[in-house]
Amino acid sequence: MDFTFTDDERRFDTEVVAFLDSERDHPDAAVVFAPQREADAQLASTPEHKEFMRRLADKGWLGMSWPEEFGGDGHEGLYEYILNERLSQRGAPLIGKGVGMIGKTLIRHADEQLQKRFLPEIRTASIDFALGYSEPDSGSDLASLKLRATRVEGGWALNGQKRFSTSAHFAEWYWVAARTDPDAPKHKGITLFLIDMADPGLTVLEQKTMGDERTNEVFFDDVVVPDENVVGEVNSGWTYICEALDYERFTIYTVGALESKMARIMEWATTTERRGRRMSEDPQVRAGIVALATDLEVARMLTLRVIDEAARGGVPSNEASMCKLTLTRLHQKMADWMLEHLGPSGVLTHEDPDAIDDGFWEHSYRFTVLETIGGGSSEIQKNILSRRALGLPG
Ligand SMILES: Cc1cc2nc3c(=O)[nH]c(=O)nc-3n(C[C@H](O)[C@H](O)[C@H](O)COP(=O)(O)OP(=O)(O)OC[C@H]3O[C@@H](n4cnc5c(N)ncnc54)[C@H](O)[C@@H]3O)c2cc1C
Repeated sequence: MDFTFTDDERRFDTEVVAFLDSERDHPDAAVVFAPQREADAQLASTPEHKEFMRRLADKGWLGMSWPEEFGGDGHEGLYEYILNERLSQRGAPLIGKGVGMIGKTLIRHADEQLQKRFLPEIRTASIDFALGYSEPDSGSDLASLKLRATRVEGGWALNGQKRFSTSAHFAEWYWVAARTDPDAPKHKGITLFLIDMADPGLTVLEQKTMGDERTNEVFFDDVVVPDENVVGEVNSGWTYICEALDYERFTIYTVGALESKMARIMEWATTTERRGRRMSEDPQVRAGIVALATDLEVARMLTLRVIDEAARGGVPSNEASMCKLTLTRLHQKMADWMLEHLGPSGVLTHEDPDAIDDGFWEHSYRFTVLETIGGGSSEIQKNILSRRALGLPG
């Protein structure tokens, strides 16, 4: 397995770095590049973030890996990986679920009219999506979802509730899984719909999280979705969801964010003194940093395995689960380790003038818990791996 970048990939990387350097002078830079508050960084949630995504689109960098007939240039997923890693190093929004999950699922499974309507808008960063999978009683056991879609003339009427619909308070479109056949086995009666978020039958309520990230509860009251907004085949939604979740696990969790945290840890260790000695001279601190750096290298290699599998045309299922598990655990380890070493002031929040590093590690400690839940919890990743990768029964 050769993970060395080709000349062309290195050229692209240099071009991305130069673009991001030039963006530092943009009037919106302070909003767009916000590594300090992890919760807001990944999503194009503000007008400034959206404008930044449009500038990325103008460079032709959204949908690069899509086939040419859909406006991509056939670049391998490695180019998107390079771009996402550089974005996450700077705390900028990532290319996200539109290009990665929804775009790729539409390309594989949707009919031509949906592809023509949505793919160009995704490539130009004109629209954003919320994902409506989880419900109050269906999270890990997603196939048990109950949001009911009943047949009406020309479409489907949706009634029920979703939970944890991140981005639903600013997205234009809603990618929703609903039960279209309650009598079929649970995996076989689910259909995916694209719903206009402006539909008056939708009510979006804020759901706060311990990591300060806003997510949402969404209530459906006779939301009528026309047949042309059904994604792929009726009752085949479960297959598409599983495939799209594998895409999510490797487009959202990046090594770049870990690298920038590692740089912060190094900065702290080399500039902070305790009892007349720099932290970096303390053998126990040095040993801890080396252990984290080693884990970081493992995370990087796992990520490359995922990209490699995707570049060969596969859906990197086991690799994606291993990667999510490792990356999210390492985010937690870094925050745990830093809080242990910062002492009591480490837990002051960023509102407190005495907070260390503007409360970055205190916030990170809370935020990194969320990452181990969203996109399928750590326990679920382990279940997937025990069955699919190790072939354990049960
Ligand atoms: C910040 C954040 C953003 C999110 N964004 C979205 C989004 O945009 N769209 C969306 O649809 N969902 C989203 N989610 C929901 C997320 O996918 C679910 O929270 C997750 O799948 C877990 O489901 P649950 O919360 O219902 O917990 P449960 O499924 O009730 O699980 C509770 C606990 O039990 C464990 N558990 C459950 N089943 C098993 C098992 N079989 N074996 C071992 N342990 C098990 C879980 O690991 C967990 O620790 C988001 C969640 C968070 C935290």
